[in-house]
Amino acid sequence: MQTIERTTTTFPWQQLARCKGVDPEVFHPAPEEDGHDAKQICTLCPVREACLEHALSAREKFGVWGGYTERERRREIRRRRRSA
Ligand code: SF4
Repeated sequence: MQTIERTTTTFPWQQLARCKGVDPEVFHPAPEEDGHDAKQICTLCPVREACLEHALSAREKFGVWGGYTERERRREIRRRRRSA
């Protein structure tokens, strides 16, 4: 597993990330917030799927990735486990 910094381009798909140059704070909402502003950016991101798959496989613990908050990613992992 590898945790990446959003400001770097560790993986090729990050070159096309719509969040490049956006204040990282937007993607790290407080736990009680739903990450609406980040999700709005992710919605039209051309690498959303790759981003989400990375976050799920790397078990990214913080922030919004692929339009999913930490809680939503945990839920998605559980859903996939159940349907496997
Ligand atoms: S899906 Fe969202 S967090 Fe992932 S690269 Fe795109 S804009 Fe950034």
